[in-house]
Amino acid sequence: MPKPDLPLVARDIRKNIIRSLAIAGSGHTAGAMGTADIFAWWYFGGGLRHRSGEPSWEGRDRLILSCGHYAPVLYVTLAMAGYFPLAELSSLRKIGSRLQGHPVKRVELKKMSGLGHEILPGVENTSGPLGQGVSVAVGMALAAKRRGEKHWVWCLGSDGEVQEGQTWEAYISAVKYELGNLIYVIDYNNIQITGEVSKIMPLGNLKKRLEGCGMEVMEIDGHDFEDLEKVKEWAGLHPKTPKAVIMVTTPGKGVGFMENNYRWHGIPPTKEQAFDALEELIRGKK
Ligand SMILES: [Mg+2]
Repeated sequence: MPKPDLPLVARDIRKNIIRSLAIAGSGHTAGAMGTADIFAWWYFGGGLRHRSGEPSWEGRDRLILSCGHYAPVLYVTLAMAGYFPLAELSSLRKIGSRLQGHPVKRVELKKMSGLGHEILPGVENTSGPLGQGVSVAVGMALAAKRRGEKHWVWCLGSDGEVQEGQTWEAYISAVKYELGNLIYVIDYNNIQITGEVSKIMPLGNLKKRLEGCGMEVMEIDGHDFEDLEKVKEWAGLHPKTPKAVIMVTTPGKGVGFMENNYRWHGIPPTKEQAFDALEELIRGKK
């Protein structure tokens, strides 16, 4: 079967992000839009080993979403990949929905609405407090290594999240336990909720700092599918060393009035803005 047209898949992911956020009336736009290409590659381009019809397949690669506010891009991609119906995307952030503002591994809907317990297929971890997901990924990678499992543990974190001290504890732990099965992706978009990362708390030479912890580090363009394609081969070259991939992205990618503007970090488009954004995405100028 031929590979899907990944730029087109990413454009559809972005369109669905805009729609679901506009319907929700709250949520985080910029990071989700900026990582649509990465998610297209993960779920449609062979980046992740996964089976949408068998979400608990033991051989699947695990994707830990540490920056939980990127939830819309995860939900949209999972729905497009067949994990649950696309129609459910309009329940984003609704009370009782399986699509909470930050992903939950298990939503106790019974307590919330009397509907019984439901799990959203494809979600591997509960997230929200920044930094914690990196530690979760390290724990899962350690467990997988001790069990002799062969899958990768991927973790997506954000550049602003690197400011959390917990992440550095996770890095040095991953190195100590020689977690060669860990691929930690940092979405380097230079924004956080109140401004530019480089102004609020500069990360310096992040590549050198991570290498200083003992990690193998690669820097790529997070919108370049040829770059993305190189990651797994490179990761396989370092079987005993945890990997970090700094992926440079444009926040709000695809919609001119959102791109590189930190104000779109934590707000959704209004209905009118959503129409404008969809028009631009449909025209496909970006
Ligand atoms: Mg950021």
